[in-house]
Amino acid sequence: TSSPTLTFNDGNTIPQLGYGVWQVEDDVAEKVVRQAFEAGFRHIDTAKIYGNESGVGRAIASSGLSAEEIFITTKLWNADQGYESTLAAFEESMDRLGLETLDLYLIHWQQPKQDKFVDTWKALIELKKRGRVKSIGVSNFTVEGLQRIIDETGVVPVINQVELHPFFNQAELRAFNASKGILTQAWSPLGQGGELLENATVGEIAAKHGATPAQVVIAWHLAIGNVVIPKSVTESRIQENFAALGVKLDDADVEAISGLDRGAEGRIGPDPAVSD
Ligand code: NAD
Repeated sequence: TSSPTLTFNDGNTIPQLGYGVWQVEDDVAEKVVRQAFEAGFRHIDTAKIYGNESGVGRAIASSGLSAEEIFITTKLWNADQGYESTLAAFEESMDRLGLETLDLYLIHWQQPKQDKFVDTWKALIELKKRGRVKSIGVSNFTVEGLQRIIDETGVVPVINQVELHPFFNQAELRAFNASKGILTQAWSPLGQGGELLENATVGEIAAKHGATPAQVVIAWHLAIGNVVIPKSVTESRIQENFAALGVKLDDADVEAISGLDRGAEGRIGPDPAVSD
């Protein structure tokens, strides 16, 4: 099995199911990314702030997979926002990853009070022009932030990676992203593994499909069109999460899981509109 791909507004494609490595130590990252490749994942989501780009890079180098076979995302950290500092931080990330070209570079947080995200976006546009990165996008951007970078540069991000799970399903932001041709990528897609995976509705749907709760939640993300990047450092769960590709939910299942939304109450992480 391989993940289905989705097509960006710049014509490039992304495997819809990927593997995220937040809160994974550098040496552990090397091991678990190798396990993720063995399980079938070809899309890895890291960031400078995760401190494991080197470990991800070592796993890529020893994987035997070519650059064309894999899809790597990293992210520009908040302290590096600004035009020149972004260009420099990008090269440092590439050195750690050991890559010639990056598949996707994201501004990690909008940082509305710092208010450097437009200049930062211009640097990403330049990196794409130079061919250093194939696609450029953002993470933790609001409708206002997206509108502003689009208005000021005319360049639409390919993706907006945001907190998104059944308790916080971001219906409005997903609709806005879609209206601009921006894919939505879900971070903390399993709600960080807490209460969500114990939820009765999720459990009933899992039992019906002979699947696990984590697989059902991943299948829900795939069904509603999200790019999704679950994290685990346990090999059996890495394999289980990839096998969610085989779980096909019916419309009633998808609706029931979408119905678990708690609005703003469901948010786990910081609110990008006020976090700086
Ligand atoms: P997640 O929702 O993927 O949950 C991960 C946790 O769920 C694991 O630590 C484990 O406890 C549990 N889990 C995973 N698979 C399981 C399974 N099969 N069965 C039972 N429990 C299971 O949380 P996350 O790591 O916060 O998010 C995923 C990825 O999203 C991150 O690794 C990172 O790449 C990205 N992310 C991005 C941002 C951002 O600001 N852009 C923020 C947070 C996370």
